[in-house]
Amino acid sequence: MSLLLEAERYVANQSSRATLNAFITPLRAQSGRWHDQAKDADNRRTQGKAKSRLDGRFIAIKDNICTRDLPTTCASKILDTYTSPFNATVVQRLEDAGAIVAGKTNLDEFGMGSHSAHSRFGPVKNTRRGDKSSYISAGGSSGGSALAVATDQCYSALGTDTGGSIRLPAAYTGTVGFKPSYGLISRWGVVAYANSLDTVGVMAKRTSTVRDVFEILNQHDHRDPTSLSPSSRDTISSALSLPRLSCRLTSSPLRIGVPSEYNISELTPPVRQSWIRSIEYLRQQGHIIEPVSLPMTKSALSAYYILAPAEASSNLAKYDGVRYGTRPEDSHGQDAQESYLYAKTKGQGFGDEVKRRIMLGAFSLSAQAIDNYFIQAQRIRRLVQRDFNAVFRADHPLAAEKSDLDSQARQAGVDVIVCPTAPTLPPSISDIIDANAKKSPLDAYINDVFTVPASLAGLPAISVPVPARTQGNEEHAGIQIIGQYGDDQLVLKVAEVLEGYRS
Ligand code: GLN
Repeated sequence: MSLLLEAERYVANQSSRATLNAFITPLRAQSGRWHDQAKDADNRRTQGKAKSRLDGRFIAIKDNICTRDLPTTCASKILDTYTSPFNATVVQRLEDAGAIVAGKTNLDEFGMGSHSAHSRFGPVKNTRRGDKSSYISAGGSSGGSALAVATDQCYSALGTDTGGSIRLPAAYTGTVGFKPSYGLISRWGVVAYANSLDTVGVMAKRTSTVRDVFEILNQHDHRDPTSLSPSSRDTISSALSLPRLSCRLTSSPLRIGVPSEYNISELTPPVRQSWIRSIEYLRQQGHIIEPVSLPMTKSALSAYYILAPAEASSNLAKYDGVRYGTRPEDSHGQDAQESYLYAKTKGQGFGDEVKRRIMLGAFSLSAQAIDNYFIQAQRIRRLVQRDFNAVFRADHPLAAEKSDLDSQARQAGVDVIVCPTAPTLPPSISDIIDANAKKSPLDAYINDVFTVPASLAGLPAISVPVPARTQGNEEHAGIQIIGQYGDDQLVLKVAEVLEGYRS
């Protein structure tokens, strides 16, 4: 099929599937550069001069990543009239490779949430296959990107993942969602939620597409101070090209870790069965399955929900109606006090979940609470990282001190960890809204229990759809593969192996 025809099909789907609310800013059939871009890419392809494997491909962008040609709202009222004067580095790199920005996707406001229901533009609405009568969660916060991929509204999509926001939506929509190692992909031009955890990642129907996009984006960016330098990248690749490690990318059987602490009571039977069957499948492919222990897992979620809001409260302070953020109409009066202007801007501009995170973060950083909350959570973060380092065969390539495991214990370590992405299959949207009314918002945080440990440790992790049996329905559960820091290629390879299970 020509790239232009493919592009026309995606744009038509964006308009016929508008009720799903996957996009905040979709492309329009009549206007925009996409038509000419696709035609040019077709010409380049026929002349054998394609710019890259992504030339002419439609890639949707989560609406917290800056684009020069389309607004960037972060699904917030406080930015609902904002258009960035520049492209984020990731967007620029995609455009340089010939890819076409396929619109801006819906999300939880500023990336805070697990169901893409906390959006100024209304919730993203996912459906069970064959059942269009009731809506289910698309996961969050990159739910719009995931659903756009799942429903053929784009070829691939970018999301961001701070504590699971790419992997959870991938699990709930039956797509592949990859969060690379922290620092590999530039965050310049990505609106910050929690800087020490934020990662840009990729969603697509297949791992091979995810790899193509990742390859374009996996480069140092001098404008992002947390982007890994070329010399650190060299250190990683030489550490992982040691003979005993490099062979894992080719033929040797892998050692696959199954963490016992992930078998929690909240894990529902269909997800548990998909996990067991995935492990069985990997064993049949000749890999070695090893039980491993990650004892700090149970504390990781609480630590995450102290650290992420703490960073968020500091990041969001700048939306004061003066430098950043839409100022409400009635705050312009001559004698309006500064504090009145700030309060009014934030009070009207932020949604409830964002306000909750700001309060939580401001509290845990306050003089009376910092020792008992923020400092303790930082300690737990360190212990979570140590847990992972103790089970992997590869050392952390950038660790300042080398681990004290002897070489025999190292040899017995695992190459990757395989576990569920989320404890349950997607809940219905009405349940989420009811639950918000009846239960504490903290109950929603449990969805992230399996995704936050890799985020706290900065590790690469991917969610792959695996068939799940429920009463009469053919569904998918997300199975997550986590690797040592920098071992992104191995994580992608295992994802591809597991993908073989569904096809
Ligand atoms: N659900 C988590 C949160 O609300 C993760 C969000 C994310 O990864 N952006 O913080």
